[in-house]
Amino acid sequence: MELFFVFIFGIVFGSFLNVVILRIPKQESVVFNASHCPKCKNKLKIWHNIPLFSWIFLKGKCGYCNEKISIQYPLIELVSGIIFILLTLKLGFGLPQLFIAFSFLTLLALSIIDFRYKMVPDSLNLLAIIFAIFGAWSVLGIFENFKNALLFAGGFTLLRFALSYYLTSSVFRAGLKTKTTWNKNYDRTPFIEAMGEGDIMVAATMGALLGIELTLVAIFLSAILALPVMLMLRGKSMEEQRVPYVPFLTLATFIVYIYDSPILAYIEANY
Ligand SMILES: [Zn+2]
Repeated sequence: MELFFVFIFGIVFGSFLNVVILRIPKQESVVFNASHCPKCKNKLKIWHNIPLFSWIFLKGKCGYCNEKISIQYPLIELVSGIIFILLTLKLGFGLPQLFIAFSFLTLLALSIIDFRYKMVPDSLNLLAIIFAIFGAWSVLGIFENFKNALLFAGGFTLLRFALSYYLTSSVFRAGLKTKTTWNKNYDRTPFIEAMGEGDIMVAATMGALLGIELTLVAIFLSAILALPVMLMLRGKSMEEQRVPYVPFLTLATFIVYIYDSPILAYIEANY
């Protein structure tokens, strides 16, 4: 019964998350605008707006104009409900648990926004990391989380610096060999960034949530999860090959968070 309420709580937050995902990239207010149908602009009635159930009852259509409503909405709500249930089963109830759940929900929103718009809004990134740092059971725990966040923010900054240098200089050397239109128009070498700034913040959030060893495991896992997608995109243009990476980091972080004890036990046993 308790889990049922946790699930309801989760899908309600998932419903809010949908608003965040829709409005943050457009820089609209998340709070001061009643929900409306994107097609006919009619304000939604309470019964049009019940998480998960309204979409099912209205058969995925707007209650006014029958415009199809994306399955993304109920899906996000369902996933949020599942995140809440899994975290409650693992951690029980309490404020730290709630912060951790909020951190994962914010990462979920970031994943969808990265996937759809190829952007990672700073506001959500900051929110995710703050929730992650304060999702601790003691003041010492908060300091520990903060330390791990700094560690991975720094580590990723170094990595990005090195990779960007490598990419930029290899393009420069390739350009010297073959005078193409590419570098003909540049008297300076174009600077190529290996990762977005957003990824550094996500790595910091991972550090705060997981600690050092498990974050390394999660980064490795995210690469494995992303590999099939990368292979599918082989041979496509440079722009199309830009895979949004936050969804893979988020999924890997959640999997590692849920299975932390067996993973740590495995590391201990094979050290
Ligand atoms: Zn409508």
